[in-house]
Amino acid sequence: MKYFSTRDCSRELVALADAAFMGLARDGGLFMPERIPQVDMQCVEALAGQSYADMALYLAKLLFDEVDAVALERVVRDAYDFQVGLRQFDDKVSTLELFHGPTHAFKDFGARFMGRMTGLLNNGEELIVLTATSGDTGSAVAHGFHNVEGVRVVILYPDGKVSPLQEAQMTTLGGNIHPLKVAGTFDDCQRMVKSMFRNAALREKVRLTSANSINLLRWIPQSFYYFYGYCAWKRQTGGDMPTVVVPSGNYGNLTAGMLARRMGLPIKGFVAASNANNVVPEYLLTEQYRPRKSVQTLANAMDVGDPSNFERMMSLCGGDVKALQSEVRGYECSDEQIAAAIAEIYEKYGYLSDPHSAVGYLAMKACGESGFYLSTAHAAKFGEVVEPVTGVAPELPESLADAVKRERHATKMGADEAALADFLLKM
Ligand SMILES: *Cc1c(COP(=O)(O)O)cnc(C)c1O
Repeated sequence: MKYFSTRDCSRELVALADAAFMGLARDGGLFMPERIPQVDMQCVEALAGQSYADMALYLAKLLFDEVDAVALERVVRDAYDFQVGLRQFDDKVSTLELFHGPTHAFKDFGARFMGRMTGLLNNGEELIVLTATSGDTGSAVAHGFHNVEGVRVVILYPDGKVSPLQEAQMTTLGGNIHPLKVAGTFDDCQRMVKSMFRNAALREKVRLTSANSINLLRWIPQSFYYFYGYCAWKRQTGGDMPTVVVPSGNYGNLTAGMLARRMGLPIKGFVAASNANNVVPEYLLTEQYRPRKSVQTLANAMDVGDPSNFERMMSLCGGDVKALQSEVRGYECSDEQIAAAIAEIYEKYGYLSDPHSAVGYLAMKACGESGFYLSTAHAAKFGEVVEPVTGVAPELPESLADAVKRERHATKMGADEAALADFLLKM
């Protein structure tokens, strides 16, 4: 399999390792697979009945066909050693729980696969993964690359501006994970990281790559859990052709679902569930794409005003907005609705929901169709939202409770490019 950029009309093809280490294509576009392999759904259903890893391996072999099968199996089994659950609320509404990984958010599915594949493609050479985070991505990347041989991870985060839980998840791993606590804002962190990638003198001495969310090694494996969700849902409810609701921000998740559907997964259609940041739902209604500054909401991992994966969405539809409208519907809601939904889910079902997943619940109810919505994070990661609304403090999963207790290690740094370059050179 080779890859082309969404912005390249001539569809010049790039090898997997090149696309993976570049992250973004040179023309600023996003990488797409040159062809979409077709699955045998009977085979998928049988494997999903065995384990997530068995099913994921079958799909990974179709998509990453040039990677050695034994090595790929090691990547997949090592990445997917945790549970995926389906919870049925009533005859129409179920949710696929994607928050049982090490950082208790669905980003573990992409980050763990990327960490291990990067290690494999890199072949043991010295490599530094450099990334800036406002919180959640950093912890998923840290855990995704923890103990990957030959790879060191440098994560910049703004001092005092990430939650204590997020900081604990990034700073208690040790080993090949090097957190830098920057005296500045997230924008400072991002500016520092970008300047390292532009620093030719530095890049001659140090091999750098980013763990950007648009990296195809993070994006493609997110298509796998749609297959698993479908199989679990079909087994549990006896239904066929579910509608799948995806709480969305940067739209990596939803576009991975669109990829799964093109591989032959029988999904009726998608709902793009958003908070007040409604650029895509608005586009689906008006056919006008109006990127803008994001507004802060209770579901803050979905606060995106110009989603990077919009290009992938359009590419998968061949640029045809009508085709997109027939596959994806939009939904948007306010913070008040999110809070009310968290309360409703708890009152009706005794189930604690995080704010992002609650947006999915609202959209599922609103569309009136049967299917499942994706639960993207564990309620305990957003206790400050969930507790006031339900009166119940969600219990921290064991691994989170452990991380909070452990000693934190981070190197302090000013918001200064030269200091970062120096740090990287001395590593
Ligand atoms: C990142 C994230 C989202 C949004 O996913 P996209 O792929 O960016 O659309 C939703 N919920 C949670 C908890 C997240 O961390």
